[in-house]
Amino acid sequence: MIASDLRSGVDQLGDMIAEAKVIVPFTGAGISTESGIPDFRSPGGLWTRNRPIPYDEFVASQDARDEAWRRRFAMEPTFAAAKPGRGHRALASLYKAGKIPAIVTQNIDNLHQNSGFAAEHVIELHGNTTYARCIGCGESYGLAWVKERMDATSYAPDCPGCGEPVKTATISFGQAMPEDAMRRATELAQHCDLFLAIGSSLVVWPAAGFPMLAKNCGARLVIINNEPTEQDELADLVIRHDIGETLGPFVGN
Ligand code: NAD
Repeated sequence: MIASDLRSGVDQLGDMIAEAKVIVPFTGAGISTESGIPDFRSPGGLWTRNRPIPYDEFVASQDARDEAWRRRFAMEPTFAAAKPGRGHRALASLYKAGKIPAIVTQNIDNLHQNSGFAAEHVIELHGNTTYARCIGCGESYGLAWVKERMDATSYAPDCPGCGEPVKTATISFGQAMPEDAMRRATELAQHCDLFLAIGSSLVVWPAAGFPMLAKNCGARLVIINNEPTEQDELADLVIRHDIGETLGPFVGN
């Protein structure tokens, strides 16, 4: 059911939150636009400017790796300046209140951790762009380490340990999903009584399967997004408004 207006949506959401014992939020890029990070599919979003570089291309081509890292460093001022918005802070308040055991996110921006979630309670389906990893041995590297090498040689570096390419710790199109994160997200979706899909166009699979899974396992499903999604008809409540405006009233002290 689509909330008739913002006020009624917030009231109904408040009742559902009060009645729920275990809430699992599932977030997408829309929760971070208030923090200044563009999403993928809105006008002016990242996809309208740059075609994503698929994993195979990154692995096969030094040029693709150089381009991927140039793009990443071009975004660095945006990521570095981003602070959690009202949506992040509202969810962190519910987490502190013991209503949310862990959060499932498609985002790679670390803003849920920055808003107060313990890192082990943020299940990142698409990884994290605030550090780098060797795609061979998995060794972690800071972005400053990569930047230094790119500045010195103009090439994206390989891992000094095993010689394989170093990539942001994100999951690219065509790259295998992280098994542990998928397993934990599945368990959470199966065992919550309220599932909140927030700021996702729900078109990137397999991540987009979690709202449906939660609903099929008996949870109430709420979708908060400023444009329609393909799964709106499954939801018990659809709030088609700004996320900051919708979740602002749930930010605690
Ligand atoms: P998406 O761009 O496909 O969808 C975002 C949705 O949020 C859109 O439907 C948009 O209309 C809506 N939205 C944007 N701002 C909003 C606001 N203030 N209030 C309400 N709705 C708002 O993003 P997705 O579904 O997360 O999937 C894209 C992929 O992009 C994800 O896998 C993610 O890894 C990646 N990504 C992440 C970030 C980030 O970490 N912040 C940013 C861009 C892309």
